[in-house]
Amino acid sequence: TSPAYDPNNIFAKILRNEIPSVRLYEDDHTLAFMDVMPQSPGHLLVIPKEGSRNLLDADPAVLARTMPVVQKLAVAAKEALDADGILVTQFNELTAGQTVFHLHFHVIPRYEGVSLRP
Ligand code: 5GP
Repeated sequence: TSPAYDPNNIFAKILRNEIPSVRLYEDDHTLAFMDVMPQSPGHLLVIPKEGSRNLLDADPAVLARTMPVVQKLAVAAKEALDADGILVTQFNELTAGQTVFHLHFHVIPRYEGVSLRP
Protein backbone atom coordinates (compact mmCIF):
# COMPACT_ATOMS: atom_id res chain seq x y z
CA THR A 1 0.00 0.00 0.00
CA SER A 2 1.02 3.63 -0.61
CA PRO A 3 2.18 5.98 2.12
CA ALA A 4 -0.48 8.41 3.35
CA TYR A 5 -1.32 11.67 1.60
CA ASP A 6 0.82 14.55 2.91
CA PRO A 7 -1.21 17.80 3.02
CA ASN A 8 2.03 19.81 2.98
CA ASN A 9 3.05 18.81 -0.55
CA ILE A 10 3.74 21.64 -3.02
CA PHE A 11 0.46 21.32 -4.90
CA ALA A 12 -1.57 21.37 -1.68
CA LYS A 13 0.24 24.63 -0.89
CA ILE A 14 -0.60 25.96 -4.35
CA LEU A 15 -4.26 25.04 -3.73
CA ARG A 16 -4.19 26.96 -0.43
CA ASN A 17 -2.45 29.92 -2.10
CA GLU A 18 0.52 29.50 0.19
CA ILE A 19 2.83 29.51 -2.81
CA PRO A 20 2.10 31.34 -6.08
CA SER A 21 1.20 29.73 -9.38
CA VAL A 22 -0.01 30.82 -12.80
CA ARG A 23 -3.60 29.60 -12.69
CA LEU A 24 -5.34 28.78 -15.96
CA TYR A 25 -8.61 27.22 -14.87
CA GLU A 26 -10.43 26.58 -11.62
CA ASP A 27 -13.76 25.16 -10.54
CA ASP A 28 -15.08 23.70 -7.28
CA HIS A 29 -13.21 20.43 -7.78
CA THR A 30 -10.27 21.11 -10.10
CA LEU A 31 -7.35 23.49 -10.63
CA ALA A 32 -5.05 23.88 -13.63
CA PHE A 33 -1.83 25.88 -13.57
CA MET A 34 1.41 26.22 -15.51
CA ASP A 35 4.27 23.84 -14.72
CA VAL A 36 7.15 25.88 -13.30
CA MET A 37 9.71 23.86 -15.28
CA PRO A 38 7.92 23.26 -18.59
CA GLN A 39 9.10 20.33 -20.68
CA SER A 40 7.80 22.21 -23.69
CA PRO A 41 6.08 25.59 -24.17
CA GLY A 42 2.59 25.48 -22.66
CA HIS A 43 3.22 22.58 -20.26
CA LEU A 44 0.40 22.72 -17.71
CA LEU A 45 -0.83 20.60 -14.82
CA VAL A 46 -4.37 19.63 -13.86
CA ILE A 47 -5.09 18.58 -10.27
CA PRO A 48 -8.19 17.60 -8.35
CA LYS A 49 -8.64 19.72 -5.24
CA GLU A 50 -9.36 16.63 -3.19
CA GLY A 51 -6.11 15.24 -1.84
CA SER A 52 -4.86 11.94 -3.11
CA ARG A 53 -1.27 10.88 -3.46
CA ASN A 54 -1.60 9.71 -7.06
CA LEU A 55 -3.81 7.66 -9.38
CA LEU A 56 -3.42 4.57 -7.24
CA ASP A 57 -5.35 5.93 -4.26
CA ALA A 58 -7.66 8.37 -6.07
CA ASP A 59 -11.44 8.21 -5.70
CA PRO A 60 -12.93 7.21 -9.09
CA ALA A 61 -15.58 9.93 -8.62
CA VAL A 62 -12.77 12.49 -8.43
CA LEU A 63 -11.21 11.12 -11.60
CA ALA A 64 -14.57 11.40 -13.33
CA ARG A 65 -14.61 15.14 -12.57
CA THR A 66 -10.96 15.73 -13.39
CA MET A 67 -10.65 14.07 -16.80
CA PRO A 68 -13.11 16.36 -18.63
CA VAL A 69 -10.97 19.30 -17.48
CA VAL A 70 -7.84 17.54 -18.74
CA GLN A 71 -9.58 17.05 -22.07
CA LYS A 72 -10.79 20.68 -22.30
CA LEU A 73 -7.34 22.07 -21.56
CA ALA A 74 -5.66 19.65 -23.95
CA VAL A 75 -7.98 20.80 -26.74
CA ALA A 76 -7.53 24.46 -25.76
CA ALA A 77 -3.74 24.14 -25.62
CA LYS A 78 -3.61 22.44 -29.00
CA GLU A 79 -5.69 25.23 -30.54
CA ALA A 80 -4.19 28.21 -28.73
CA LEU A 81 -0.58 27.12 -29.11
CA ASP A 82 -0.97 25.50 -32.52
CA ALA A 83 0.61 22.30 -31.18
CA ASP A 84 0.96 19.27 -33.44
CA GLY A 85 0.02 16.93 -30.60
CA ILE A 86 -0.64 16.87 -26.86
CA LEU A 87 1.01 14.47 -24.43
CA VAL A 88 -1.08 13.70 -21.33
CA THR A 89 0.76 11.80 -18.65
CA GLN A 90 1.10 11.18 -14.95
CA PHE A 91 3.46 9.26 -12.67
CA ASN A 92 2.77 7.10 -9.62
CA GLU A 93 5.42 6.82 -6.89
CA LEU A 94 9.06 7.87 -6.90
CA THR A 95 10.35 4.93 -8.90
CA ALA A 96 7.91 5.78 -11.69
CA GLY A 97 9.07 9.41 -11.78
CA GLN A 98 6.63 11.07 -9.39
CA THR A 99 8.17 13.97 -7.45
CA VAL A 100 5.10 15.80 -6.13
CA PHE A 101 2.73 13.57 -4.20
CA HIS A 102 -0.62 15.11 -5.05
CA LEU A 103 -2.34 13.54 -8.06
CA HIS A 104 -1.67 15.58 -11.20
CA PHE A 105 -2.00 15.20 -14.93
CA HIS A 106 0.62 16.73 -17.20
CA VAL A 107 -0.71 18.34 -20.39
CA ILE A 108 2.31 18.86 -22.64
CA PRO A 109 2.03 20.41 -26.09
CA ARG A 110 4.28 18.72 -28.65
CA TYR A 111 5.67 20.30 -31.79
CA GLU A 112 7.00 18.58 -34.88
CA GLY A 113 10.80 18.41 -34.65
CA VAL A 114 10.96 19.76 -31.07
CA SER A 115 12.21 17.42 -28.33
CA LEU A 116 10.94 17.52 -24.76
CA ARG A 117 13.17 19.25 -22.24
CA PRO A 118 14.47 16.65 -19.77
P1 5GP B 1 5.94 14.66 -11.38
O1 5GP B 1 5.65 14.51 -9.91
O2 5GP B 1 4.80 14.23 -12.24
O3 5GP B 1 7.23 14.04 -11.80
O4 5GP B 1 6.15 16.19 -11.71
C1 5GP B 1 5.85 17.25 -10.88
C2 5GP B 1 5.82 18.48 -11.74
O5 5GP B 1 5.56 19.59 -10.91
C3 5GP B 1 7.13 18.78 -12.48
O6 5GP B 1 6.87 18.89 -13.87
C4 5GP B 1 7.60 20.09 -11.88
O7 5GP B 1 8.20 20.94 -12.82
C5 5GP B 1 6.33 20.68 -11.33
N1 5GP B 1 6.52 21.52 -10.16
C6 5GP B 1 7.32 21.25 -9.09
N2 5GP B 1 7.25 22.24 -8.20
C7 5GP B 1 6.38 23.16 -8.71
C8 5GP B 1 5.91 24.43 -8.23
O8 5GP B 1 6.27 24.90 -7.15
N3 5GP B 1 5.05 25.11 -9.04
C9 5GP B 1 4.63 24.60 -10.24
N4 5GP B 1 3.79 25.36 -10.96
N5 5GP B 1 5.06 23.42 -10.72
C10 5GP B 1 5.93 22.71 -9.96
